[in-house]
Amino acid sequence: MPLSSKVGRASLRDIVLAATGQDVRQCMQCLLCNHRPSQGMDLVIGEVMQAIVRNDASVLRSRTLWGCDDYLLRDPRCQAGLDISSVILTLQREAEVRGLAMAGEPSRAESG
Ligand code: SF4
Repeated sequence: MPLSSKVGRASLRDIVLAATGQDVRQCMQCLLCNHRPSQGMDLVIGEVMQAIVRNDASVLRSRTLWGCDDYLLRDPRCQAGLDISSVILTLQREAEVRGLAMAGEPSRAESG
């Protein structure tokens, strides 16, 4: 089944909006948050935001969800005022709900 399947699930944007109040459509793709990504990140944050806008569920398999702790510890600022950490946490939870969380990866959602 393609990852883009939307059957039975709210859109990723709606899920993030309901969980965090963050409307990722505000992402301007300014790329300023893409500075110094962690080594474990296969997508930069701007790409993650745009995947959510497109409801592209393949983002739930992105290593960025589980490999961006160092990046988030640097408290990246979003030019649109989006709370990047809460968006990533919501995607982690959604990946777990859909059984797409990467095996062996510690979850920020689990660790609090
Ligand atoms: S800084 Fe904010 S608005 Fe700019 S690309 Fe990153 S998430 Fe989008």
